[in-house]
Amino acid sequence: MRILVVEDEKKIASFVSKGLAEMGFNPLVCHRGDDALHLATTERFDAIVLDIMLPGRDGLSVLRQLREQHNTVPVILLTARDGLSERVEGLNLGADDYLAKPFSMEELIARLRAIRRRLSGGGLNIQRYEDLTLNLITREVSRAGCKIDLTAREYALLEYLMRSPGRVLTRTQICEQVWDYHFDPGTNVVDVCIQRLRRKLDDGHDVKLIQTVRGVGYALKAGS
Ligand code: CA
Repeated sequence: MRILVVEDEKKIASFVSKGLAEMGFNPLVCHRGDDALHLATTERFDAIVLDIMLPGRDGLSVLRQLREQHNTVPVILLTARDGLSERVEGLNLGADDYLAKPFSMEELIARLRAIRRRLSGGGLNIQRYEDLTLNLITREVSRAGCKIDLTAREYALLEYLMRSPGRVLTRTQICEQVWDYHFDPGTNVVDVCIQRLRRKLDDGHDVKLIQTVRGVGYALKAGS
């Protein structure tokens, strides 16, 4: 589980990060709210441990912004012991859980494991890559919170690409998976479908998600 730890008190941040790494989690520490929002919108995390009082942007504002962008990453807020109102506000904004400071590592790890259990119960139907989300049940696709209409073939192609982000898939592989027939080197069906998908997904975004690997094929990978 890749965890973003957002905490400006460096001692606590390094204690939490060390404790998580020892338990087999993969933590990344960040000390500012604005940096946290940037990281959370550009990279994929399985959960965010989010302090409230932060420089740059406070934790509740980070959470509000994420939820407004339809980012559903699980968030555990770190609140003050007597911070009832911030706890209520946080839960109303869409926090998944909270921990009152000071907390023990055992408590934090138990909360993260509970999140992992919930995710493996219902979250498997959602595939995410960067700001792209694909719902395997409803077949809804959205990027940065905006819904994208795809044809059945474009959807099948995207679903295939999303199963192995970063990996280069050859035209032959794509053709056999998505069209269910053997690839004829004379056909350009794959390229044509990729172009249409690329227009729908990447137009108007600085970060392009569909990359061409010359002479080989295509990959779902964030780039320019
Ligand atoms: Ca703080």
